[in-house]
Amino acid sequence: MSQQVIGNDVDRALEILRNGGLVGLPTETVYGLAADASQKKAVAKIFAAKGRPNSHPLIVHVASIEEARNLCSLWPHSAELLGSTYWPGPLSVVVNKAPEVLVEVTGGHQTVALRVPGHSMAIELLTRFKGGLAAPSANKFGKVSPTTAQHVLDDLGTSVDYILDGGPCDVGLESTIVDCSADTPVVLRPGGISAEDIQKIVALGSDELGMSRAPGMLPAHYAPNCELTLLEEFSEAIRMRESSETSTQRVIDASIDPLGFASSMYAQLRQCDADQIEKLFVILPQPIGIGLAIRDRLTKAAHGSKNQSH
Ligand code: AMP
Ligand code: MG
Repeated sequence: MSQQVIGNDVDRALEILRNGGLVGLPTETVYGLAADASQKKAVAKIFAAKGRPNSHPLIVHVASIEEARNLCSLWPHSAELLGSTYWPGPLSVVVNKAPEVLVEVTGGHQTVALRVPGHSMAIELLTRFKGGLAAPSANKFGKVSPTTAQHVLDDLGTSVDYILDGGPCDVGLESTIVDCSADTPVVLRPGGISAEDIQKIVALGSDELGMSRAPGMLPAHYAPNCELTLLEEFSEAIRMRESSETSTQRVIDASIDPLGFASSMYAQLRQCDADQIEKLFVILPQPIGIGLAIRDRLTKAAHGSKNQSH
């Protein structure tokens, strides 16, 4: 009678969510750990499964811009412009929350982060669910994000009731977060939509777009077990490799094809751990386009990796 934990049964996922359970949700960014955003007990299960502090706000996923408008008390012009341009897609907007949005979801804030994900299975689920799904990345707190259904199972095991398998994530990096609740929108986290593309639609209030500073984003995050060293030039990697005594080393050049690298970045970090790599050297892409988000995630991953902990 035991049922498969990974599958493509949207009916089953819906039933679990309505009953307050947790579902692994495929999106174009990374896999989410989804619960009904209107059920306190279900939301509490997300924090318990991830080992995530309750003060770290969750992004609420909805099926359409109309549903996003329903979850906020004031829908700013900037959110309308960004949502109508980039949704469904890897962009979250922070807006003032509607009274019915639980503070358990928003980490106690009066604002809520909203996103319409660009993945057909997620949209089908959300459209039939007819409500918001709170969904942070489906990994243990501080660890590498999941980009396949199997990654979710590896990380969360039996604490997730069912995992919808939507294949490997296309973008592979978390969404760009834009705070639209203030007069001038600000990028809180670089991500799948580049700052340059955001600036084509709205004027941004800050030029410090390089590193994420949304609440709950810590300097150490997305961390593999291996020692991660970030380099600007390939020649530096050659020098460091030669001067280092261990044999279990790997060099990855993220500067050649940043978009392609982004989609497989978390899988490659996981593979390094599976292969028991001790030292990983990554050559960084330029800080433009998706390169900004890659540098943000890898800088945090390096902070959390072995070389920073002792
Ligand atoms: P993740 O756990 O990777 O899904 O990331 C969720 C991100 O969204 C975290 O960095 C949160 O800090 C951010 N976030 C969620 N809600 C808000 C909010 N109301 N204001 C600012 N950032 C938010
Ligand atoms: Mg995360």
